[in-house]
Amino acid sequence: MKIGFLGLGNMGGPMARNLLKAGHEVIGFDPAPAAREAFAQAGGEAVSGLQAIATSGADIIITMLPAAAQVREVYLGADGLLARAPRGRLFIDSSTIDPHSARAVAAEAARAGHAMLDAPVSGGTGGAEAGTLTFMVGGAEEDFARAKPVLAAMGRNLVHCGAGGNGQVAKIANNMLLGITMAGVAEAMALGVSLGMDPVTLAGIINTSSGRCWSSEVYNPWPGVVPTAPAARGYSGGFGTDLMLKDLGLATEAAKLARQPVPLGALAQQLYQGFSHAGHGGLDFSAIVRNYRRGGEA
Ligand code: NAD
Repeated sequence: MKIGFLGLGNMGGPMARNLLKAGHEVIGFDPAPAAREAFAQAGGEAVSGLQAIATSGADIIITMLPAAAQVREVYLGADGLLARAPRGRLFIDSSTIDPHSARAVAAEAARAGHAMLDAPVSGGTGGAEAGTLTFMVGGAEEDFARAKPVLAAMGRNLVHCGAGGNGQVAKIANNMLLGITMAGVAEAMALGVSLGMDPVTLAGIINTSSGRCWSSEVYNPWPGVVPTAPAARGYSGGFGTDLMLKDLGLATEAAKLARQPVPLGALAQQLYQGFSHAGHGGLDFSAIVRNYRRGGEA
């Protein structure tokens, strides 16, 4: 199948490569020359503008862009996908954006005679490389069925979450909880250690008791507890604090529009915002534990 791909960055690059590996013909664009070059080296057809993709005859066009501003520009811009592509395309936006924007863009796509799914992912760059992403998909059932064989080349869990925008809803609700549980585990670990507990013993108790969660068990923020967690390598790699901050911002903004109280989400957002402001935005988000350690050491 011929597939268009816009946004060949940290996530989109390996996702597009997995489509190529699965035997699809992929035509891609990214304004960054290095991203286009890497894509071409992997066997993709790199083009110098999105218009070439819109008119390429690709049935399915995937976007993996930084944020809602770029998604609106690429789809709704005067020279964007909706203005250029012949009717009947299936657009899949895998960027993480707010549900309101996802629904607005999908409505415009429908008006222009196209189908559209929001399909944000979890699994990070490791999952993108390995083709094991989880796709949380919002949109019509028949469009989900049409997208499935293509998504299957990039992900392992493909979940239809309901109507358009619901993929983004699932994504931001999960990531808001992740931000909260990580801060909670950091706080509990720091309390226990400051009161005299050995961190490994404490984590072992939590992980076999009612405090158990992914943030404690798989990704414990305390160094020396989980050898594969970013805490074991100075909080490098993993899921950056600024990316977590972006997702918490999406959650609290969406909550505001829905008049839905999210006091813990808002508090978590401020915790990560302060941490980013202090110059740690590039560290894995589990480094938030530094806020709780005496002298801030990790
Ligand atoms: P990235 O910045 O590495 O990649 C985004 C790419 O989009 C860049 O290469 C950029 O040049 C390109 N781009 C910008 N404007 C464009 C345009 N008009 N047309 C085509 N390409 C354009 O970001 P990423 O880490 O790949 O993240 C992409 C999305 O996935 C974000 O919404 C992010 O929140 C989400 N996400 C990221 C992760 C992660 O671990 N990195 C995990 C889950 C979800």
